[in-house]
Amino acid sequence: MAMPWVDTHCHLQLDGRPPHELLQRAERVAWVVAPGVDAISSKTSLALSEQFPGRVLATAGLHPHEAESWPEQGPAIAELAPVVSAIGETGLDYYRDLSPRDAQEKSFRAQIDLALGHDKPVIVHCRDAFADVHRVIEDTGVGSQTVLHCWTGGTRWTKRFLDLEVTFSFAGPIAFETGETIRLAAALVPPERALVETDTPYLAPPPHRGEQNEPAWVEYVGATLADVWGLPARHVAEVTSANAARIFGR
Ligand SMILES: [Zn+2]
Repeated sequence: MAMPWVDTHCHLQLDGRPPHELLQRAERVAWVVAPGVDAISSKTSLALSEQFPGRVLATAGLHPHEAESWPEQGPAIAELAPVVSAIGETGLDYYRDLSPRDAQEKSFRAQIDLALGHDKPVIVHCRDAFADVHRVIEDTGVGSQTVLHCWTGGTRWTKRFLDLEVTFSFAGPIAFETGETIRLAAALVPPERALVETDTPYLAPPPHRGEQNEPAWVEYVGATLADVWGLPARHVAEVTSANAARIFGR
């Protein structure tokens, strides 16, 4: 397989189209991670990983938008923790603020505890909440197990998070015309600390911006990183895929 990429954040179960078609079209993608955003989508993620062994990895988590329902959904997510490849997606979202901030932090900390307890990576969504995400990661000591998904921070926050030993996952926005801040930040990230993702079905990169995203297009994200780092795309595919294998235990 030429240039096998790994799409580390691909919500196959939220897409609506048949997962086997999306995976078939992604012939240069070796495997994907399909993050759960609540108890039901986490169970579906596990089912997909059983249906496509080696091609889809499961996670269990509760998205910050739904954090208020942690008391109800937490037990089902905790039950899945031992058999999935990662916890999340969790994190803090102060942009949409769909759950109260204290409920978001409670749910985030509970999921970090699961990740620490089961020695699994935790996939973190961070939107307009850099200071608090940084504080929680620092407090809990989960740093080196942390994947910051769809990283959009600028150079200042990127430096501070680098100090916590997290891994940065880049998505479509790095390739947007408006993505200069993210590209400048990515230039500071050593390739060994980076992953690529699509966040399917959202945030399609150019030349597909505005369309429904799919895993095949992760290579546009990778090509942008190759430009930023001045490295051949082949090398970016190799190193980010090796990082993904190490982090998600494959
Ligand atoms: Zn997501």
